[in-house]
Amino acid sequence: MSRLCFGTLTIGPSQAALCDDEAASLIVYSLNKGINFLDTAELYDNYDVIRKVLRQCSRRPVIATKTYAYTRQQAQASFDLARKKLDTDCIDIFLLHEQESMLTMAGHHEAFSFMLELKEKGLVRAIGLSTHAIEPVRALADAKSSHNSIWHKHQLEPGAYRYADIIHPLINLRGIGILDGSAGEMITACRQAQSTGLGLYGMKALGGGHLLPVYCEAMAFMMDLEFLSSVAVGMQSQDEIDTNLSVFSGLPVSDKQVKQAMRKKRQLRIEDWCSGCGKCVERCGEDALYMLRDKAHVNQQKCVYCGYCASVCREFAIKIF
Ligand code: SF4
Ligand code: SF4
Repeated sequence: MSRLCFGTLTIGPSQAALCDDEAASLIVYSLNKGINFLDTAELYDNYDVIRKVLRQCSRRPVIATKTYAYTRQQAQASFDLARKKLDTDCIDIFLLHEQESMLTMAGHHEAFSFMLELKEKGLVRAIGLSTHAIEPVRALADAKSSHNSIWHKHQLEPGAYRYADIIHPLINLRGIGILDGSAGEMITACRQAQSTGLGLYGMKALGGGHLLPVYCEAMAFMMDLEFLSSVAVGMQSQDEIDTNLSVFSGLPVSDKQVKQAMRKKRQLRIEDWCSGCGKCVERCGEDALYMLRDKAHVNQQKCVYCGYCASVCREFAIKIF
């Protein structure tokens, strides 16, 4: 896989105001420039865009997707949807989305067991999980060890997690968005995971945009993390793709390119028609949302622009620009 992965959350309907054709052209542009790895998820609602991309490219990229399934039936439905919409027989990488603790992992174990069955049948090439927390990284590393001491301490068994292949953790220069510790602690856990044979690709290199003022330093930090096979970065323009590709190719980046990349400071907006149901506040693991006078409000300093809150808003009142 290319060291730079196209993180497609940013071209989904809750974020960039791109039509499907524009979004597909942007991804095709990145593939023609050498990127060969796309990260998506059922939540991102962009399988139709990716299918358009696949029809336009001569060499199929590696695709990772994610599911929130708890049960076997839900995992089957997610898998069927991805296969149908992406027009493929085999999913390259199928991950449990947003596992934030061993308890959530235990709750999703039935779905993960089914994902393992899919892998054994050759319908999925690799399985694993994505996370904003350190605990699941440690837990997956422990699941692959012979002692399973962390699991046993919680009176749990790792079961199918012993056969996980991949972790997609949140990691960046300042640890922005890590739910249960520091960047240093996440790095230690990732190294431990890599030593057990797990493959890793990172996310949130720029902390949801908060690290744009130190763009070069933040990207150099990610490039130095030897345990990351790839880094998923959300991109919304050809300029951003070119700048990131230069950095990931070890080429010098001009001040103009950095300014171009920095121009895209992101914002989460909650529209006036928010009904004040509070579901988004419950959903946000970063404590970035709060209620005031029966409306949701955001603390932009805490928000990492993951889009999870938008997925629970029935009023479609949350947008990320
Ligand atoms: S989920 Fe949507 S409608 Fe409910 S409080 Fe949040 S923004 Fe408002
Ligand atoms: S406010 Fe929404 S986008 Fe921001 S961190 Fe919370 S869930 Fe993610």
